[in-house]
Amino acid sequence: MKTIDRLITWARLKSPWIIHFNSGACNACDIEVLAALTPRYDVERFGVLLKGSPRHADVLVCSGPVTLQQRERLVTIYEQMPEPKFVIAVGTCACSAGVFDGCYCVEGGIDTAIPVNMYVPGCPAKPEAIIDGVVKLLGTLEGKEGKPKKIKEPQTAVMEPKEPQEADKA
Ligand code: SF4
Repeated sequence: MKTIDRLITWARLKSPWIIHFNSGACNACDIEVLAALTPRYDVERFGVLLKGSPRHADVLVCSGPVTLQQRERLVTIYEQMPEPKFVIAVGTCACSAGVFDGCYCVEGGIDTAIPVNMYVPGCPAKPEAIIDGVVKLLGTLEGKEGKPKKIKEPQTAVMEPKEPQEADKA
């Protein structure tokens, strides 16, 4: 691998640019994605930056099931992203259509339209789980030589239950 390629890979992994797309969510998962981006959870500490154009993004963060109305837009956005590109399905609906499964206007989870690299379950998915999913995706992308690799088997971010803090009990 050339030095310039290594430098590009290093930069990409240290500062992944993401784009968020709602393909039919009830909006609760979208609020959690926004919460993960705001200072309280501060996903920017991992170098993650929200972009407005798919042409500038490395990671597509999807929420909601794939509705028939949004399917074509979702595929277009995915195709407009440069390689290498990755997809995170946020919320149970994005993972498997969730409560909308079987609905007349719903095709299914995100992977019925585009390939998914990371599944973050939850209804809605918590910001901690979304951050965990992003960090795990970045960790997996870093190959032995710092080279990003395609994830063959999609992964699922699962949060470990934690003990309640004193402040939470009050
Ligand atoms: S997983 Fe739950 S919160 Fe998220 S879009 Fe589906 S119904 Fe809404």
